[in-house]
This record gives sequence, C-alpha cells and structure tokens, in this order.
Amino acid sequence: MSGRIKEEDVAYIRDRAPIDEVVADYVQLKNAGGGQKKGLCPFHDEKSPSFHVTPSKGYFHCFGCQTGGDVIAFLMKIDHLTFTETIERLADRIGYTLRYEEGNSASSGPVVTSGTRNRLIAAHAEAAKFYQEQLNTSPNAAHGRDLLTKRGFDKSACQQFGVGYSPDEWDGLTKHLRGLGYSIDELELAGLSKMGQRGPIDKFRNRLMWPIKDISGDIVGFGARKLASDEEDQGPKYLNTSETPIYKKSQVLYGLDVAKKEIAKKRQAVIVEGYTDVMAAHLAGITTAVATCGTAFGADHIRILRRLLMDDDSFRGEVIFTFDGDAAGQKAALRAFSEDQKFVTQTFVAVEPDGLDPCELRQEKGDLALRDLIARRVPLFEFAIRAELAHHKLDTAEGRVNALNAAAPLVAQIRDKSLRPEYTRLLAGWLGVEVEIVTRAVAQGAKAAPQQSRQQVEEVPAQQNFRPDPNEARLILEREVLKSRLQEPQLFEGDLWSSIEPGAFTHPAYSAMRTAIDAHEKISPEVITDENLRALFTELTVEPIRADGKPTQLYVASIVARLREVAISRSIADLKSSLQRLNPVENEIEYNAAFAQLVALESARRSLHDLALGSL
Ligand SMILES: [Zn+2]
Repeated sequence: MSGRIKEEDVAYIRDRAPIDEVVADYVQLKNAGGGQKKGLCPFHDEKSPSFHVTPSKGYFHCFGCQTGGDVIAFLMKIDHLTFTETIERLADRIGYTLRYEEGNSASSGPVVTSGTRNRLIAAHAEAAKFYQEQLNTSPNAAHGRDLLTKRGFDKSACQQFGVGYSPDEWDGLTKHLRGLGYSIDELELAGLSKMGQRGPIDKFRNRLMWPIKDISGDIVGFGARKLASDEEDQGPKYLNTSETPIYKKSQVLYGLDVAKKEIAKKRQAVIVEGYTDVMAAHLAGITTAVATCGTAFGADHIRILRRLLMDDDSFRGEVIFTFDGDAAGQKAALRAFSEDQKFVTQTFVAVEPDGLDPCELRQEKGDLALRDLIARRVPLFEFAIRAELAHHKLDTAEGRVNALNAAAPLVAQIRDKSLRPEYTRLLAGWLGVEVEIVTRAVAQGAKAAPQQSRQQVEEVPAQQNFRPDPNEARLILEREVLKSRLQEPQLFEGDLWSSIEPGAFTHPAYSAMRTAIDAHEKISPEVITDENLRALFTELTVEPIRADGKPTQLYVASIVARLREVAISRSIADLKSSLQRLNPVENEIEYNAAFAQLVALESARRSLHDLALGSL
C-alpha cells in the first residue's frame, strides 16, 4: 500500500487547481455574471445550461440534476477516478509533487511520490510497446500468435487490446528498459523485473501478455498466459503482476478503461473470467464486459462498478456474471446471500449450459451466441436457488423435502421482503409442491437462518437514500436553515444556531450536516470525511437561498423560528400522546411533570410563532 497523501497537500491541490479550467476541459463555459460561469451539464442531458461553476468558491453545481461539489468531486465523477487518483492527476496538472504519509501501511515499502508513479506508469507503457513488437516480429512468438488466431483473435483485435509477447529470454525487457534510462530499482518496484541469481531478470518470460489498465487508461500491470509446457515452465497458467505501488489486484478490472463509458451509458456491467473472455465479449458487441485479474470479484470491485452505475444517489442498472455453471460459480452465487443485497437484487447470472466460457462460445458458435447468452441472464437469487435444487433428486418425495429444507432458508435470507413471496411461489413451482408448504418452510427458515453479519451490511454506505430531495416540502425549512448557516453564517446572531432543538433536523442527512457543523470550528469539504455528506455540503453551499433579494438577519431569525416551532410542535404532540397514557391519579408526579413541560413548550411555541410571523 502506498501511503495516504498528506492532508495539507490535498488542501493545497484543492485550493490551487482552478476548477473553471479543469471543468473547461469537458464543458464549454460562458460567463454568467456575478463571477459565475455556466454551461451544459456533463452529467445529464439538457438543452439550456444549468451547470454553474463558481471559481472564487471552487465549487460547481447543476441546478438540473443537483450534481455538485468541488474540483476533486468533479474529476472523480466525470472520469470515474478514486480520490487518490484525482489528487494525483490534479497535482500533475499544476506541477506539484505530492508527499505521502508513511503512516499505517504495514509494509514499510519505498515512499511513492507522484513522480515515482509517473515513472512506473511510463515504464509499463514502454514494456507494453516492447511486448507488442515482440508478438508481431519475434519468430519465437509464433505459437503465441497461433493460439490467439485459434481463439478467434486476428491481428487488429490483438492490437486493439495491446496483446503482446514476452520473449523467451532471461532479460530481454530488463535490458530494453535499462537502455531507456530506467533503474533496476524502478523496474523491480514496477514488478517488471526481479532479482535472479546472476542479476536482474525479466518477471515474465515466454508468455502472451495482456496490459492491464487502471480506470483512466494507464497501464499498471500485466496478465500473462503461459505458452510453454508444464515441464518447461512450472509457473501457473496465468501469472499477473504482483502487488505494486500502482497495481492492486483487488482494485483493477481488466477492460474497464474501454468499458467504463458504455457501463455508465447502458447501465450494465458484464463480469467475465479472463482476458480472452473480455476480448471476445467486446468483439461480439458486449462492450460492457470486464474481468477481475487473478482474484475473485470482491467488495472493491463492487465499489468501482457502483461508481459507474450510480446515478447521483441511487444505484441503477444491472451486473451480469457469466459463470460456466461449475462449483466455483455456484459458490460465488451463494456467497452473495451474505453480502450486500442492495447490489444483489440487480445482479444476474448468465450460464452457458454446455460449460463453455465466453471466448470458447464465440469461437464455436459466433458473436450472436455470446450476445444471446447475456440476453438470457437470470436473477442471481433464482440462479442460486436452482443451483441448490440441482443437488437433490426432485423426482422422489424424500428428495423434494430435502431440497425444500435446503432452499427455503435461502428465500428467507432475501433481505428485500417484498421479493420473498415471489421466490416462494417460484420455488413451489420448481419443486412441484403447494405454495403453502413452501411458505411455511420459508417462515421456519427465517427463524433458523443465522443472523447475517451486521458489520458487512454497515460497511456499505446507505447511499441510496442519503441525499434528501431538495424540493420535498416537508424538508424545505430544514434545508433553508442549513443553506443559510453554510452560506451566510454571519447572519446567525448570538446563540440563534445553538438554540435549535436537537431533533429539529429530521432528515438523517440534514441532521448529520448539523452535527458536522457543530463539530468543526470552520466547516469545509476538507474536514468532512463522508463522501455523501461532502456532496451535500457543496450542494447546500451553492444552491441559492430562497429569500427575496439578499438574505438578512431578520430572514434567518424567522426561518430558524419556524424550524424550531415545527420541532417543538412535534415534541408537544409526543408529550400529549404520552400524557393520554398516564393516569393522573396513579402517576401523579410523572403526570404533573409532563404537564408542566407541555405548558412550557406551548409557551415557547407561541413566542416562536410570533417571531416567525413578525418577519415574514
Ligand atoms: Zn446536471
């Protein structure tokens, strides 16, 4: 793990990177008066510009789709980069060398600066060129070229994906790169060379090479397929770059650089298993295909896809896994039940009944067959339940009972309760038994099923409902008060802000914003760690306050009064309902205390009401 970028460097980049210039690479901006610029929003389709940039504040906001944030948020969203990638990109842009914390990284590896990263990426680009050249010209690469041809990839397909060949020599690449000025240390750090008994040698030899790119298209590693026989080469069939400062296998998806736009546009991602499967899928017209690189599909991969499939605040689209129906695929499907099911309900499985992988399927039956496989996807729940049923003999009564006992807990584990009746019906159909019997078994299964780990659920931020609807009438007052507090804090006299009742902000996001404001002397995106909250911050900072003309102290006092009046009214209603349940004789002391509190609240409400009226 490379360390975290130093906080002050992040702040420096945020301040210095000119948001209007960065945005102008993607959006044509015109002056909109008041120091603002505007243009057509890159995040939604529109005909008249509602996308505003405020260079002096460093924020952007679209009043059409409510997307907003600072320069970092803009770049992350438009190019689907991680926070670190974005900071590194901006640092390069303004010619700043980042410093990294060595802090919590377990291995005390070398400190990677932005300069090092650039060197490693440049070395990979040269290596890819070298390997490609070798594939095209080296006589030793003939068996590699044959294998590609047999798999249905012609020269242009190989060029499109940058496929190459690592020569059957000890140090062909190492020598080549050293000739270009790269040091042994750099090549080892990059995972391209390693120390042999007689000096540095190539990491990959006599293999077909697939360059693996990160989401922005930089080559960060290689996947390498063995060409020699097992006697000649005892290494694994597929060998990947080991973890390096720029290559984290849990965070790369092969093909993502070419698929990311299509994934975002079509709201679909197809997960296949290997490099040739990705190539086959893309060539067959499935342009949303990606593969993991030498590791199982995991939580980090989900996060990457989520970023592409996330539409502001809700996850839309579908993720389709191609399993060849073998045990590993079934296990993966079953594991999904214990993971984040928000994702699972949009997860599908495409199973090729003959056990062919996508590459073989295209080879044997053509592009259409592959497209058809994807079109015939089934929901993951269905796949997993039917995979379980396949273990039982459904033509005997005993087999059906066993199958029911095994499958009913799966239905019970579907977290979205509204889906359970449907799967109960489906399961009854697959088993050929009465729905009532299955319903009972599912109810039993719900009791018997182990409680899923809460931790796993909480790890995934509740993004779906985090962002409040800006126009929800019930919440407008809460929103206006927060906007005023963030944009015009000087209008809050004395203890006006702190006088607001703890429960006044009813939406969790607004309440979290209040907590964040109270926790910091000066609130700014830098101090907000939660990414959703940070987005809300910029949204509230840029959205115009609803006052007629410039907001005044009087305006702020009146909206605070109204907010408090609403909050107190809620408390009054609660108190009245508990008073009704108290017996004034039996619980005399409690009753009197509650009653006194009610009187006090009523009086506070009246004075707030007058205050709110007086100013509006
Ligand atoms: Zn927009």
